Order: sequence, then C-alpha cells, then structure tokens
Amino acid sequence: NLYESVDVEGGGELSRLCSNFNTMSKILSKIEQQRREFIHNVSHELKTPLSSIKLLIESLKYGTYEDLNIYKEFFKDIYGEVERMKQIIDDLMIIVDIDEKKSKLNLELAHINYLIDKVINRMHLKAKSKNINIIYKEIDNIQIKLDIIKIDRVITNILDNAIKYSNENGNIYIYLYNEENYAVIKVKDEGVGIPEEDLSRIFERFYRVDKARSRETGGSGLGLFIAKQLVDLHEGEILVESKLKQGSIFYVKIPVDLI
Ligand code: ADP
Repeated sequence: NLYESVDVEGGGELSRLCSNFNTMSKILSKIEQQRREFIHNVSHELKTPLSSIKLLIESLKYGTYEDLNIYKEFFKDIYGEVERMKQIIDDLMIIVDIDEKKSKLNLELAHINYLIDKVINRMHLKAKSKNINIIYKEIDNIQIKLDIIKIDRVITNILDNAIKYSNENGNIYIYLYNEENYAVIKVKDEGVGIPEEDLSRIFERFYRVDKARSRETGGSGLGLFIAKQLVDLHEGEILVESKLKQGSIFYVKIPVDLI
C-alpha cells in the first residue's frame, strides 16, 4: 500500500483533517490499482493476437506446403488477428479521448431512423453469414439533436453484440420509440443471454462473461464500456434485461431536449 493511514485521538480539526487525508489516500490507492489493472489488461489483450500472429508467421517461415491454399489460409488468419489488434487500439483511443474529456458532443439534428437504417445496412452481411434476421420497426418518427458519430457507434456496438451472441437462424428485433423525454432504441435478441450475476458488470471495461467464447467471436470487452460512456455523454441511459439461453434486450435512452 502506497499510502499509510494516519490516526489522531479525539475530535477537533486535526482529527477531521486526518480523516479527510485517509479518505483521499484510499481513493489514490484505488486509482493506482485501477491503472495497474488497466495496463495489465491492455497488454494481455494485445499480446493474445500478437502471439497468434507470431505462431502463424513461424509456420509460414518453416513450413513447406505443397498446397498454395494453405498459405492463403495462413495469411487470412494473420489478417484477422491484425484486424483484431486494430479494433482494440481504435477502442482504446476512444476511451482515452473520453477519459481526457476531449470527447465533446457535436450535436446535430438527426433522424434516428436514418441512423439505425445505416447501421443495419452496414451489419447486414455479418448477420447474413449466420442467417440472422434483423427486424426493425420505427414506432415513432424521431428527429432530435445528438452526436451522430457517437450514437452510430453505440448502435453499432450493441447490434454487433446482438449478432455475435445470437445463435444461427435467430431473430433480432429493433424498435425506435418515444418514452417521456427520451428517444428509446430497443435491441432484442434471442441469443445466449447473460447470467444474472454478470449483468451489473458487463459495462465495465474488459469485462466479458465467457472469456473463451468472446475471444472466439473477436470481442475485446470494450464495446459496452464505450457504448455506456458515449450514452453518458448524452446524459442518457443504457439498460439491459437478459435471461440465460433466452436472449437479451438493450435499451438506449437519449434525452430529446439536448441543447
Ligand atoms: P465483447 O467485445 O466481449 O463483446 P462487450 O463490452 O461488447 O465486449 O460486451 C461485454 C460482455 O457482455 C460480452 O463479452 C458478453 O459476454 C456480454 N454480452 C454483451 N452483449 C450481449 C448479448 N447481446 N447477448 C449476450 N451476451 C452479451
């Protein structure tokens, strides 16, 4: 422990000062510990694809394969791992921006409907590869001020998860509607679901329910953390309901009256 606590007998100003000092040192210790954990996690996350790349390159270096297609497969795998590292670094850069409060909202009047359509189109192929149906229903036509790039990212991360954690041939339902002073985007899947004991933690950075599985699906454990930070910047809310093996529902709520 970097910071020792100090005790003073009795009451009075000095004792209050000590108590403040002790609280502060506890906070500092916690920040220090979080920083160490963060560096540990980042190193680990980047090391995993890097080790795979190293192995693949060694196989290419020493292997003598007659079939040229094998080389193609190796290069494809290397490319996949490089993409994954790039994704992690992009995510980290967003997080650093948010942490440094550099990330200001660039509010523009936007049709959320148009934004959702755009994201669905982008994810269309990924969904099709698992024969997943995306059913989108615009219940209310909503035009509000928001940061288009950031909310695009939020919807992308959530829909990406819905696809990743859905079974083949599953359905994903997206609804857009008004509720009190919020525009709500609801994304429902029929996938693997999230155990109740993990629900409160999935928005933490690097938190993953099933580490092996989400590594397989290319997850970094940063998607929901980023989504929550971006929604928080909008003074909105992101909520989840889920049942194991039945599916999950994510709600993104953005205030309609941001100025
Ligand atoms: P990852 O990159 O691992 O998907 P996220 O931050 O996006 O990281 O999500 C954190 C964890 O929450 C995931 O590893 C997964 O276990 C769980 N999760 C997120 N979305 C869903 C979903 N739609 N269905 C089931 N589990 C989910």
